Amino acid sequence: MVFEFPNKENAQYKVKSQYENYINGEWTAPADGEYFDNESPVIGKAVSKVPRSKQADIDKAVAAAQEAQKSWGTTSVTERSNILNKIANRVEENLEEFAVLETFENGKAVRETLNADLPLLVDHFRYFAGVIRAQEGGISQLDNDTVAYHYHEPIGVVGQIIPWNFPLLMAAWKIAPALAAGNSIVLKPAEQTPTTILHFVELIGDLLPPGVLNIVNGFGSEAGQALATHEGINKIAFTGETTTGRIIMQNASQNIIPVTLELGGKSPNIFAKDVMDEDDGYLDKAIEGLVMFALNQGEVCTCPSRAIIHEDIFDAFMEKVIKRVEQIKIGNPLDPDTMMGAQTSKEQKEKIASYLDIGKKEGAEVLTGGNLKEIDDADIEGGYYFEPTIFKGHNKMRIFQEEIFGPVLAVTTYKDDDEAIEIANDTLYGLGAGVWTRSQNRAYRLGRAIEAGRVWVNTYHDYPAHAAFGGYKMSGIGRENHKMMLGHYQQTKNLLVSYGESPK
Ligand code: NAD
Repeated sequence: MVFEFPNKENAQYKVKSQYENYINGEWTAPADGEYFDNESPVIGKAVSKVPRSKQADIDKAVAAAQEAQKSWGTTSVTERSNILNKIANRVEENLEEFAVLETFENGKAVRETLNADLPLLVDHFRYFAGVIRAQEGGISQLDNDTVAYHYHEPIGVVGQIIPWNFPLLMAAWKIAPALAAGNSIVLKPAEQTPTTILHFVELIGDLLPPGVLNIVNGFGSEAGQALATHEGINKIAFTGETTTGRIIMQNASQNIIPVTLELGGKSPNIFAKDVMDEDDGYLDKAIEGLVMFALNQGEVCTCPSRAIIHEDIFDAFMEKVIKRVEQIKIGNPLDPDTMMGAQTSKEQKEKIASYLDIGKKEGAEVLTGGNLKEIDDADIEGGYYFEPTIFKGHNKMRIFQEEIFGPVLAVTTYKDDDEAIEIANDTLYGLGAGVWTRSQNRAYRLGRAIEAGRVWVNTYHDYPAHAAFGGYKMSGIGRENHKMMLGHYQQTKNLLVSYGESPK
């Protein structure tokens, strides 16, 4: 299928009618020849066939990775760093093509893939190309003749399982540090978004020795389960739902391998009374921050899905927020002016619709939205579109407690800082959070008191490669981004050496 980038002459990108797995540097058909339909949520139609891989395909990929690891694990950091930089350069040279493919695959607005997802991917490879060269081991002089050396060694073959909400960026978050640390990879993309990563390996595959990076597609209960339980992997890194994370962790325990989990969230954002002190740029910034609940159609694990607003400013603040939300342009995500595109799949559409019903039945008040969005555009007929929705209610409601993963914001009020913290922390999750206040002291106190791995203060949804990201509580284990991430992909070798000539 060929499709065009609107407003750009002669820009056409091809989605293949059939894809294969990428194993040992070769396009490889699934062992049993089974494929599944991959649909684009932009148009709600199947556009290609993708391998429905099982145990035999995972076995093949793990064996290839094990073989490749023998030499890849001994490459110099300079060599690996140079490769990561070359990967970054190639993607950067093809940024627009990847942005459009990612939009067609996932449904997100092309202005986001072009300005956020893909540039962040490029930067991620460059960041880990840099930090791996700066990493040093340690030496301790234990006594005059005895020295303890500490080396960072690759952990080996890593299994990586990723979700559909940022298909290429989530892959980059996992691939870049794992390669930098000298590991080989078997990665299983989400079944909803299986193909852009295959375009990625098509573009950069020649830069890596065969078998270092293997991509095997399929369903979670088949290919995913086969990978997570495989005795040939030395580590598993997972991003997805908390319920799946629990299974991944159980599987890892069988093989005694380390696991990192990036799971769900229900991110509170506290808006202090002083936000409304002046009608100035700061207030506009705070409103923009909250409106980010609809970024990526709300399909972000850290979306500001709960807002806790001081009772004295609630009405005036929400009036401005609602006005802004109602200006969000929803529609064809391939149009560069579109702000909100399509939900990623039919299942997502049904899940979000069910939560709109749940919220209404629980007695929450709909402040704006609340419905599917009818889009008058023949090009995207059949796609999955929603109005951004704001519910007013209380924190015990299911719409405040459960991850909806759609453009749905639940808002409530608080009286004082203690109550704001109590509401913010009354959740199983602890991934992202936000604090909005003009007061430095309050920002510091609230920021430290919220039980979450990432608290944005007077900003939101920034994901720089050099700031640690990960969850407290049921939102996960371990961190991604930042150089501390290398620790998850390495093991420590201690050489304890005596230089003495005679026994002591
Ligand atoms: P999911 O858990 O359903 O699937 C994620 C991946 O796991 C997919 O590749 C799937 O095929 C695979 N999988 C499913 N069951 C499996 C099993 N039994 N064994 C092995 N693999 C299995 O999640 P999703 O719906 O794709 O993604 C949405 C979720 O991801 C949300 O909860 C969101 O909050 C979370 N998320 C978290 C982060 C983070 O950094 N914390 C980032 C993005 C998304």
